[in-house]
Amino acid sequence: MAQIKGKDTKPELLVRKYLYSKGFRYRLHDPKLPGKPDIVLRKYNTVIFVNGCFWHGHIRCKYFTLPKTRTDWWESKIKATQQRDNYNYSQLKKLGWDVIVVWECQLKTSSDERLRMIEQELKGKV
Ligand SMILES: [Zn+2]
Repeated sequence: MAQIKGKDTKPELLVRKYLYSKGFRYRLHDPKLPGKPDIVLRKYNTVIFVNGCFWHGHIRCKYFTLPKTRTDWWESKIKATQQRDNYNYSQLKKLGWDVIVVWECQLKTSSDERLRMIEQELKGKV
């Protein structure tokens, strides 16, 4: 199975639309930043990653279960992604960015609440 690199995935669009409707302006997938963050809010010194629970290995999440076949292979693949994510987050923090990680499952089960939290967090920065 080829990795589907989630650009313009639905959860990400949900966050973008919400922020846009609240007057936030941002850049998308800035290639100059570690990990090419999904949403870059320069004015707020904040980047947002919208992570798929499976590909990014969301711990203790019901949407993250390892496939029953080639389990070891999947496990190491997803571990590598988690390590890369954590590395990117720490690089971004070193560069002075705040990092917000939004999980796909949070947008499935309580999206309004999660979106309002992001808004509050951003507004607290200026
Ligand atoms: Zn999850």
